[in-house]
Amino acid sequence: MNIILLAPPAAGKGTQAELLDKKYHLNHISTGDLLRSAASREDDFGKKLKEIMASGALVSDEIVLELLEKHLEQSTNHNLLFDGFPRTIHQAELLDEMLEKKNDKINYVFLLDVEEDILKKRITGRRICKNCNSVYNVNIEALNPKQENTCDKCGEMLYQRGDDNEEAFKIRYQEYIEKTSPLINYYQDKQKLYRIDSNQQKEIIFDSICKIIENNKQLF
Ligand code: ADP
Repeated sequence: MNIILLAPPAAGKGTQAELLDKKYHLNHISTGDLLRSAASREDDFGKKLKEIMASGALVSDEIVLELLEKHLEQSTNHNLLFDGFPRTIHQAELLDEMLEKKNDKINYVFLLDVEEDILKKRITGRRICKNCNSVYNVNIEALNPKQENTCDKCGEMLYQRGDDNEEAFKIRYQEYIEKTSPLINYYQDKQKLYRIDSNQQKEIIFDSICKIIENNKQLF
């Protein structure tokens, strides 16, 4: 089973990916996490990457593909859950080619639909644990209200991502509309797209996704 989570920035891809991973034991691939890890290197490449990501712009398809292929080479779990990839039509075509070579394909593309003003509120309030990556939000009650600056689970300090501010959000959202949203039609044409109203609590969103998987399981 191969799944893509398609969504604007901060729509809850990472949260749903974690829940899906727990239930179905998938190989969760977050290109954002792969890139953040590469960007933490102290060399010129790391610095350049950090700059691009902090601005809110997309990283080039070549860099993303290289990191992804390296990650897949080292993976033994072939049930793939893509979080933040593909983000351009070119990436989607390359992914299709890559899977076809292995006689494999994408089964589900879940579009997490959230309005722009809600996303902006979520992004500026998002806080992440340095140690266990748990996500909190100081702006939205339904998303783990958090007024303290430490993690409930492990006590470690929380931080704010370099691109979680209003200025970078504008660019991230624009990039999404221009480059990523054409994927909605791309996957709709292939009859793989499932639209999920994601202006709801994470448990309700997860339930909607699971129902679709369970109802279609016999097809795959
Ligand atoms: P979000 O979905 O909240 O924006 P991500 O962690 O998925 O967060 O992505 C953070 C940043 O990483 C993006 O703004 C972009 O710069 C880069 N990035 C992640 N995935 C891709 C991708 N598939 N192609 C190009 N850039 C990417």
